[in-house]
Amino acid sequence: MKAKIPIIKARLLERFPNPHTALHHNNAYELLVAVILSAQCTDARVNTITPALFALYPTLSHLAQASLDTLKACIKSVSYPNNKAKHLIGMAKEVGARFAGQIPNTQADLKSLPGVGQKSANVLLSVYFQQNYLAVDTHVFRVSHRLGLSHAKTPLQTERELSALFEDDLGFWHHALIAMGRTLCRARAPQCSVCFLADLCENKKTSDTKAKCNKI
Ligand code: SF4
Repeated sequence: MKAKIPIIKARLLERFPNPHTALHHNNAYELLVAVILSAQCTDARVNTITPALFALYPTLSHLAQASLDTLKACIKSVSYPNNKAKHLIGMAKEVGARFAGQIPNTQADLKSLPGVGQKSANVLLSVYFQQNYLAVDTHVFRVSHRLGLSHAKTPLQTERELSALFEDDLGFWHHALIAMGRTLCRARAPQCSVCFLADLCENKKTSDTKAKCNKI
């Protein structure tokens, strides 16, 4: 598979020359809040609530002092609002107490914050801090497995395998694979007949592989 990577990169770059996060943000604080809210929720849904949220809590210290009930009401249209409200306030308090109010820029420090796991930390590191990390979300996991770039069982192992294959500019490839998953390689109806990677794909959908493909 390693030999196919230059071709896959070239075609992804041609098709998606400027892939980027769909989460609206103006600074590291807003991106971290949006990433926490986006867990098991769509970016589009998160973008509908963050303008009012950031108007109410424009800085980390405003969020640290938020009323839990008010914050819950403000984010009620995303999934798991109760837990996410607790995580957001906890995150804001910890960044204030342990990192002098600055969003940390290491994976270990980010993962020590409430509501921030491996995927969320990697999004912050690659999107905001321009570090060479790749986050494995549902799109990246599905597309990479269908293509045969990874056969790993877990997102963490998938991240390791994809990082070894793509090596550089991991944030860029992360967003290109997401764009692929949102357009052609959709979960329920992959568009294999018009896919520009079909000749390289291990799970190109044909009539006899349809069932297999739709399980990934
Ligand atoms: S050929 Fe089909 S399964 Fe393979 S990457 Fe393209 S859309 Fe996805």
